[in-house]
Amino acid sequence: MTNTNKAIQTHIPGFPRIGAARELKFALERHWRGELSEAGLEEIGRELRARHWALQREAGLDLVTVGDFAFYDQVASHIQLFGCEPARYGFNAEQSPLQRYFTMARGRSADVTPTAAHDADCGCGQPHASTSAALPAAAALEMTKWFDTNYHYLVPEFSADTSFTLAAERLLAEVAEAQTLGHAVKATLIGPLTLLWLGKSRDDSNFDRLSLLEQLLPAYSQLLQRLKAQGVQWVQIDEPILGLDLPAAWRNAFENTYWQLNQAGVPLLLATYFSPLEENLSLACRLPVAGLHVDAVRAPHELTSIADWLPVHKVLSVGIVDGRNIWRTDLDAALAKLAPIVDKRGGKLWLSSSCSLLHVPFSLAAEQHLDADIRDWLAFATEKLDELQLLKRTLQGDDTNAALTTARAAIASRRASPRVHQPAVRARLDQLPADADQRRSGFAERQAAQRARFKLPSFPTTTIGSFPQTPAIRSARAAHKRGELDAAGYQAQMRAEIADAVQRQEALGLDVLVHGEAERNDMVEYFGEQLDGFTFTQQGWVQSYGSRCVKPPIIYGDVNRPKAMTVDWTVHAQSLTAKPMKGMLTGPITILQWSFVRDDQPRADTALQLALAIRDEVTDLEQAGIGIIQIDEPAVREGLPLRRSRWDGYLDWATRAFRISASAVADRTQIHTHMCYAEFNDILPQIAAMDADVITIETSRSDMELLHGFGQFAYPNEIGPGVYDIHSPRVPDQQDMVRLLHKASAVIPPSRLWVNPDCGLKTRGWAETEAALRNMVAAAQQLRSVY
Ligand code: GLN
Ligand code: ZN
Repeated sequence: MTNTNKAIQTHIPGFPRIGAARELKFALERHWRGELSEAGLEEIGRELRARHWALQREAGLDLVTVGDFAFYDQVASHIQLFGCEPARYGFNAEQSPLQRYFTMARGRSADVTPTAAHDADCGCGQPHASTSAALPAAAALEMTKWFDTNYHYLVPEFSADTSFTLAAERLLAEVAEAQTLGHAVKATLIGPLTLLWLGKSRDDSNFDRLSLLEQLLPAYSQLLQRLKAQGVQWVQIDEPILGLDLPAAWRNAFENTYWQLNQAGVPLLLATYFSPLEENLSLACRLPVAGLHVDAVRAPHELTSIADWLPVHKVLSVGIVDGRNIWRTDLDAALAKLAPIVDKRGGKLWLSSSCSLLHVPFSLAAEQHLDADIRDWLAFATEKLDELQLLKRTLQGDDTNAALTTARAAIASRRASPRVHQPAVRARLDQLPADADQRRSGFAERQAAQRARFKLPSFPTTTIGSFPQTPAIRSARAAHKRGELDAAGYQAQMRAEIADAVQRQEALGLDVLVHGEAERNDMVEYFGEQLDGFTFTQQGWVQSYGSRCVKPPIIYGDVNRPKAMTVDWTVHAQSLTAKPMKGMLTGPITILQWSFVRDDQPRADTALQLALAIRDEVTDLEQAGIGIIQIDEPAVREGLPLRRSRWDGYLDWATRAFRISASAVADRTQIHTHMCYAEFNDILPQIAAMDADVITIETSRSDMELLHGFGQFAYPNEIGPGVYDIHSPRVPDQQDMVRLLHKASAVIPPSRLWVNPDCGLKTRGWAETEAALRNMVAAAQQLRSVY
């Protein structure tokens, strides 16, 4: 390493804005409750930005990133930046920009202030739109996943009437803030093509968003000129859609767009991430911009071609440190990847995280309880800044031996750790029979065996698993965690809660009961805590949307289930009723998707290990006499790769993992699965291939439309299409559910239909839950008299 005079630079595409102790979350929530003024909130925003820039500077980064801060969401900020707030909000001069911003984010209800649309929390960390769309007021913007991350953005609404007016004050003020603090500034923006791509038309799904490009570009150009005038050194402009399968018209729009934007005269760094560029690689390399950022973690194989194709006068920013995961970087591997490029790129090489660090927790400093060796294997956002600096210094020929030695020791310790590697788990997977993912008989035989056993009425009624997590349940759990309530006391209270849930279900006349999940904090964490190979942070929060954060478990080692996880609770519940009690588990893909996973083996391997752990639990439940077992898989769809060409590969192992978890049981044992918030139509063959005896899905908000695909595809097994939305306290009307069930019966043979809500009921209160279920049971009875 003797490139002493190579001026390598470091930067990041973005930093977590939520704050080391989730300061932004708490400030937002105080503001929304009316306890913190706008000025107070702005002040906290300023403090957080200043602190986060200081961290970047102290770590030695050459540029700080400005524009990654947002009070709710960066896409929503762009809606205001370009003055395209939807007309349906009817904003006028009376609302401040911040008020308008939060109205778009959270909706506006005319009368009461019920849970705002996106804040109804069922604990899964996913957003749920509410039925407040029915209110005359204004529903929040829709929310959806940011590419394949667990971050959710607000969807811009475009129409033929959309116009754009630059409103750059906020961004320019932030730039000025950073400059006043003495920082060299790189501003960051979402690119115009990605911004249009992410939007939608509310009422005309055929509207061509691309037709707005011509009007949008002048606003971008004007903004770039103003940024230049204000002395920013670079503007990073994110076009992650270059990693998607783009229609030709969108691809073709890039050259002219960037030709125009480049005229502003400020150096542009075009940023791509999350996905290989593939057929867009040469396009990305030849766009008229000053630099290109690529994700060398997700697409390491493209690095060489990019280094060859990108003209030498351009900056290449290599996203070498993983912005999507929490592992310490293997610096030797990174240096080996970079070595051939350093010489090719001369002084025009930048080092960066692969994408914004928004997707990882803030800092390891807060983690006092992690095992020391595991802690040593990790790097959160703040630690990743240091890694970049260390890589840069090493490449520049500085003496970094001491630091490298420490880093190497951590990598070696992780590689060799007996905590990571359980040979028995490996051996079991290697020896897994080829048919371990197949039930003993086909669906028809199983159905007959199950009907003979359970003798359920037609349109059997059930629920999705959780019942209200009352304040009493939550405070008991908190007290238990703090050590104030001992295990026996906690157990006793949870068993009483379960008994209460069973009794209420009996009284309601439901056919298949659940224990209610009182003892579970979270559907992934609960299982992770009992499995080998998982660890949990204290402060490892990642923004999910707005003020909502999730704290994903970390899967660091081979997964194994040392002992039964749910059997005692379920058996207790079953002992209280003669009705079938449904065992309740979280499936392998959902656990995988909602955790930080190992990067030292393919995701598929981790999924298979999880599948075996769940399979063991299913087996134990069956042996304990539980005849119906539900394995929740709401996250199957989220795992789909961004590129279509990779879908089949993923779906193969994902559905196999599910089947392995579900297939050890006898024909007479009934396996359910549950999925929500998803479009299924393009993956129906694979959903059918999961071969659950019963699938329950969220359909009420689509007015049963979602079920049509199942009908057209002739989905073979039984289905419980949700008949009411659980994200709202509204008690559903019996006749409305009857109407939905008639609709369902027109698509799916009535003999294969179940009746259930859309999802679990943990966020609801008992009163509304019982009223809703009473109507639901009555609706099912009404249907039975018809079909
Ligand atoms: N069984 C879980 C519950 O009822 C399912 C939650 C989910 O699908 N997100 O809470
Ligand atoms: Zn659900």
